[in-house]
Amino acid sequence: MLHTVMYHYVQDPARMPLPLKVMPVDAFRRQVRRLAECFEMATLESAMAYLAGGYKPRRDLCLLTFDDGLAEHAHTVTPLLAEMGIEGIFFLITACCEENRVAPVHMNHVLMAALPFGDYRREFFHEVAIRPDEAQVDAAAAKATYPWDSPEVASFKYYFNFLARPGDRDRAVSALFQRHFGREDEFSRTFYLSWTGARAMQSAGMKIGGHTHLHRPLSSLAAPELFADLDRCRGLLHSRLRPQPYWPFSYPYGKLASFTPESVSMLRTLGFHCGCTTEEGANCQGTDPFLLRRVDCKKAPMEAAVSPSEVAQ
Ligand SMILES: [Zn+2]
Repeated sequence: MLHTVMYHYVQDPARMPLPLKVMPVDAFRRQVRRLAECFEMATLESAMAYLAGGYKPRRDLCLLTFDDGLAEHAHTVTPLLAEMGIEGIFFLITACCEENRVAPVHMNHVLMAALPFGDYRREFFHEVAIRPDEAQVDAAAAKATYPWDSPEVASFKYYFNFLARPGDRDRAVSALFQRHFGREDEFSRTFYLSWTGARAMQSAGMKIGGHTHLHRPLSSLAAPELFADLDRCRGLLHSRLRPQPYWPFSYPYGKLASFTPESVSMLRTLGFHCGCTTEEGANCQGTDPFLLRRVDCKKAPMEAAVSPSEVAQ
């Protein structure tokens, strides 16, 4: 089997300017050590060879993946993995590196971390000019997508990421972000990786992949917009980074409903080699490399699970 673990924020909670939901770096170090004891730590090459049937490892493989191209992936995660001789796969949102944008999903995270939730929700719904009770959210779908959040927060995140009209939502969250945090480009420079940082990560043995240009759910985009986004993402990865034998991809939001067969065939045409979902589970030989299942780091394979107290919920 190929187990693929998915990480986002990995930080030292004591040094964080905002109380984001992170995996504390000490818990991360312990978890990676345990994973390395239980599994053969995969590289992108060994994982691809296994899926294609050309490599038969004696133990299950475990691949570590990191979404969103966050600054700490360069300054905290990479040195730790490099020291252990483990390859991580890091998926960048190219507009964040190239244009110093902040993805609306992260504006939402930092606003939620900075403001009392009730105030933020009220301000957001005021900006999009609808009453909170008009936002019809399927509570079961919200819980399935955000099992680590309270029902109110899960419903709000589900509304924000899947139901709100993207144009209205992005205008509203940008207005709130600017009101509370000031300039987007300055925030972006400290929040995300730079191209220089990403190249240094490649030199340290890490692999970089695409996570779209603007981090929108692919299923929400019409064909021309979809192609423009994925083509820009691919073009920037190729022009700003060092060559790699494989270019992996991670679908924003990641559930099967968040992308389409059309987006998968576009990714193949553009020269990406695999796609990571957030559908839970392990992968076996013959699994379609564009439908790779992953497990959240909070649910890492049994033998290496961290106790709940080690992970901020
Ligand atoms: Zn993402």
